[in-house]
Formats: sequence, structure tokens, C-alpha cells
Amino acid sequence: MRVRNFCAGPAAIPEPVLEEVRSELLEWGNAGMSIMEMSHRSSIFDEVASNAKQDFIELLDIPDEYDVLFLQGGATHQFSMVPLNFSSQEDSADYLVTGAWSKKAIVEGQKYSKINIVASSEADNFTHAPDSKLWNLDSNAKYFHYAPNETIQGVAIHQPPDIDTPIVADMSSVILSEPIDVSKFSLIYAGAQKNIGPAGLTIVIIQKEMFEKENSSNSNILRYSQHSKNNSMLNTPPTFAWYMAGKVFKWLKSEGGLEVICKKNHFKANTLYQYIDESNFFSNPVAVENRSIMNIPFILADNNLDSLFIEQAEQNGLLNLKGHRSLGGMRASIYNAMPIEGVHDLIEFMKDFEKTNG
Ligand SMILES: *Cc1c(COP(=O)(O)O)cnc(C)c1O
Repeated sequence: MRVRNFCAGPAAIPEPVLEEVRSELLEWGNAGMSIMEMSHRSSIFDEVASNAKQDFIELLDIPDEYDVLFLQGGATHQFSMVPLNFSSQEDSADYLVTGAWSKKAIVEGQKYSKINIVASSEADNFTHAPDSKLWNLDSNAKYFHYAPNETIQGVAIHQPPDIDTPIVADMSSVILSEPIDVSKFSLIYAGAQKNIGPAGLTIVIIQKEMFEKENSSNSNILRYSQHSKNNSMLNTPPTFAWYMAGKVFKWLKSEGGLEVICKKNHFKANTLYQYIDESNFFSNPVAVENRSIMNIPFILADNNLDSLFIEQAEQNGLLNLKGHRSLGGMRASIYNAMPIEGVHDLIEFMKDFEKTNG
């Protein structure tokens, strides 16, 4: 009954997690109620919440100098919260533009801060990331913002930049897909609905020394330090999403952690890219060194066949392959929860489609 879901977000969730959630839906343990009907201040929820946080810290090997916050508002809210806290109209921040999301971050950032666009690959339709040797960095910038994985264009920067400015990264579509060196970043944020769990939760990893640089005139709900001080319970957190994220973290640990999942992700992505590159019918426009391992856009040689492709894919249980409305074509999002079998199914379908229509 369950299909192969290639949606970019909200995305597929590991099946064992959904099974467990189902078994706990009427009653969590012996609590006589589900987790989503409980006070966020209850000892039961407190334990669920802190276990999830601890597992997340262990998975990413997050150093003690960082805190992890479980917030709301999505990654989009962070587009404002970051400049509100760490810059001002008198100050400037550096932004790298590699796709739709890093561009959107600037639209919000501009309302609170001067923005220096370090480099942009928009003129090349975001088919690569600008060469770091050509970046126009501002030595006085309050922070440097970028999106290591552009979900729509499928463009990735696989190594953190080697710069002195505090680095802020939008990792919404790449978090937990591979190990990262958190110490290279001052702030990492990610909406949950791609690789963490259900929508409604946004995770922020923040270097504690950033709290001192924060703009204290903001209301508490907009201040990282206040969320930290209150263990992300300054107000009611998204309890159900937090609980489910905890289950995804346990699942990731049982799968062997991020080293193992990273190998699987690279294998999945390479398998699909290899087929696309060998095909005369499908193509991916992104420079090889900037290809995403999570979101793989591809186009058909004849875009008049797009709707037929999507229709027949659906008939074969392969859903949500339509590319972003701004880009057209196709996109396969293959987050952690997509097994290699799903990629094989997709390739088999693409081969058949190419044979019949190519
Ligand atoms: C999905 C996504 C966003 C937007 O996330 P919301 O939670 O909908 O605000 C921002 N940045 C990136 C890289 C994304 O993939």
C-alpha cells in the first residue's frame, strides 16, 4: 500500500518509526493518553524531549560549546531570526547565493541588515556553486550565510567554507544525511520535514558564545538565548513532532549512525546519477562536484513528455517526482528514509520509459 515517495518535503519517514508511532498513538506507555495530549512540562514528555536532544547530539557529535534548540517557524523563520539577532541596519552580513533558498534568505535578511552578496551562480541558472576563490568577503561581516544543500536546484557545497566570519548554515535538506564538523559553524538550522521528522519543528544548533552577540532588545520568543535558557520550552513546543524526531534519531542510531547512513546515501545518489549520465534521454545539469546527494533534479530530452512521465510513474507507485514549480522537469528527493530499493525501482521505471518514448 505504501508507495515510493520522492517528495522534497514534507518527505518520507522511516517505516519502522511510523509503525512505532502507530502502536503508541492511543496510549504512550501506561500513561493512559497519547504523547500529544500531555503537558510539555510533564515528566514523561520531559524525558522524551531530553532523550531526543541527547540522541541528536550523539548522532552529530555536537561539542559541549553548542546548544540544540527545538523551535517552530520553519527554516523560513530563521531567515529573519538570524539577522534580527546578529546584525542590524548599521551592520552587514555576507550571503552566498547558490539557489532558491539562499536567495530567499536574503529577501528577509535585507529587512534587518545590510547584505553583501559574496557571490551568486544565478546567471548560470544555479548549476554550480561559485568558486570560493572568487568570493567577495567582507571582513566586517557579522556572519556568513549559505545553504550547503539547495533543495530545489540540487546543488551542494560539500565542505564548509574556510573563513573567519561566523558561519550560519541552512541545512534543512541535508542535516543527518552525513557526519558534519559542527565546530566549523556558529549556527546551523534545519526545518524537520525533510530528514528529521514531521513538519512543525525546526532544529537549531548554536554555539553558546553567539548568545552574547545577540540583540537583547528583541522579544524573548525571537532570542536564541531565551529558548536555550528554557530548554526550548519558553512556550509550548511542537511536542508531537519533537517526539517523532526522537524516534527518527533512534532509528538512525540503530542503522549504524551517520557514517553508515552517509555511505548509503552516496551509494543511492551515485546509482541514480550514473544512470542519468549514461542515458541519452535524461540529464542532470549540475556540475559534478556540486551535486546533491539528497535532491536530484533531472530533465527529459523532450519536455512534452513530462506529464506522461509523471502519470506513468504514479501508476508504478513512484510519487512526487515533479520538479519544483519554478524549475520544471523532475526531481527525486532521496533522503535517509528512501531505501536503495526505491532508487532501483525508479531507475527501472526510467529505463522502461526511455525504451518506449526515447
Ligand atoms: C525546505 C527548505 C526551506 C524552507 O523550510 P520551511 O520549513 O518551509 O520554512 C528553507 N531552506 C531549505 C534549504 C529548504 O530545503
